[in-house]
Amino acid sequence: QEKDYQFMLRTRSPGGFIPPQLYLTLDKLSNEYGNNTMRVTTRQGFQLHGILKKNLKATIAAIVKSMGSTLGACGDLNRNVMAPPAPFKNQPEYQYAWEYANNIADLLTPQTGAYYEIWLDGEKAISGEEDPEIKAARERNGNGTVFHDNPEPIYGTHYMPRKFKICVTVPGDNSVDLYTQDLTLVVITNDKDELEGFDIFAGGGLGRTHNKEETFARAADPIGYVAKEDVYDLVKAVVATQRDYGDRVNRRHARLKYLINDWGVEKFQSMVEKYLGKPLEAFKPLPEWKYKDFLGWNEQGDGKLFVGISIDNGRVKDEGSFQLKTAVREIVEQFNLPIRLTPNHNLIFYDIDPENQIAIEKILKDNGVNSNPEKVNSLVRYAMACPALPTCGLAITESERAIPSILQRIEKLLNKVGLKNEHFVIRMTGCPNGCARPYMAELGFVGSAPEAYQIWLGGSPNQTRLAEPYVNKLPINELESFLEPIFVYFRNSREQEESFGDFCARVGFDEIRKFSENYKPE
Ligand code: SF4
Repeated sequence: QEKDYQFMLRTRSPGGFIPPQLYLTLDKLSNEYGNNTMRVTTRQGFQLHGILKKNLKATIAAIVKSMGSTLGACGDLNRNVMAPPAPFKNQPEYQYAWEYANNIADLLTPQTGAYYEIWLDGEKAISGEEDPEIKAARERNGNGTVFHDNPEPIYGTHYMPRKFKICVTVPGDNSVDLYTQDLTLVVITNDKDELEGFDIFAGGGLGRTHNKEETFARAADPIGYVAKEDVYDLVKAVVATQRDYGDRVNRRHARLKYLINDWGVEKFQSMVEKYLGKPLEAFKPLPEWKYKDFLGWNEQGDGKLFVGISIDNGRVKDEGSFQLKTAVREIVEQFNLPIRLTPNHNLIFYDIDPENQIAIEKILKDNGVNSNPEKVNSLVRYAMACPALPTCGLAITESERAIPSILQRIEKLLNKVGLKNEHFVIRMTGCPNGCARPYMAELGFVGSAPEAYQIWLGGSPNQTRLAEPYVNKLPINELESFLEPIFVYFRNSREQEESFGDFCARVGFDEIRKFSENYKPE
């Protein structure tokens, strides 16, 4: 008898877009086949956990029939394309980012029909009597055909050496963690708000392995600029460069970041230019990046409203008096609202008629859900944790289940040393794969042994600088004695308005160590 294998299933949702009918389907599937919860991922998709193998087909078929897909959400190909989730209708740059994220996701969708044959009984399609639902689903997802022997024009027969991550953003908006992506495009408009082209960054990536120096987190480099007419060819050129020159022998050295690191930016640029058939233009100057999370009630610029709701660890669930899952379902059912998932695992309802604001607010309140960002604990607001145990097979230790109490302990310690209300970006993962992007945090926890973490310090509040590993294995029960001297040093010696991450990067690890060694508890 076959074992009851369990699966995690992840949606492909460019720019975090979840249409209302897909949301309702996912909600239902999580009850019928999953573990009754859904999780917003750090790449703006939904994950369902605990799907038994025998229920996979029904689950995926239901998702595809509700305008969703899971195709390409995992594997050695382009993953979910990210974009800022803000639905500002009066800022065309945001609309361009959504449009191009969607188009690039389509461009890089595998052309194979196997997905539909396996999960939707696509045999009918092969015999020529295509089910209209399947046809519509394929078209929505950028697929041309369902035949087995259809060549993959971009991926070829071997796909990519490793996963590939893309985002599209607008100048100044780093809600997407742009330095962590294999390829980032930044919308460039003219003074009439018309799209002209895109600045290009490439070579970011976070996954690494403990005690393997040759694996490392890397921030993306600026590569150049491309006019909008050439942007799809540019995407294909970058993907093809990685496809043909990325390391296919050693998976730990297979991401684009290693290719760019080994070659240098100049060689990479010239290879991309060869595939593109023309030179890249000079990178356009950009304003300073800011981290944005779009929480609370906001005007979206066309008379309608949006509301961003902070979700602890991205977990959409009902628990005691906190009935988030019920609230979201009721709002979608009653008002048929689209959703954008954010890269910080929160959720935004948009296209809201102002006359419905009070009713929506009531549903949230009745179910114990807060929509006021001022009332979200600031440490929690900027924190992220990956799922880790018990659902992730790679986890070395806890993350999602551990972070609430760890944040409480840090808050208590901050209060103790006179840093009440201080907040900074804290991120935690259960293994060095780095799904919650801990290497960009001001204080990063990376699982390195049961109940122990590698500690990363020195990232910036707007995620533009990599942190660095400070200690390799901190037993979590030593958290307070470890952090107290560092916090006291920060309190005593910070510059005005200096954030914790900027402070650690400025003074350097040697000084932090020296201070910690000589520290006498106050
Ligand atoms: Fe799993 Fe590691 Fe990713 Fe966490 S960081 S979800 S433990 S692979």
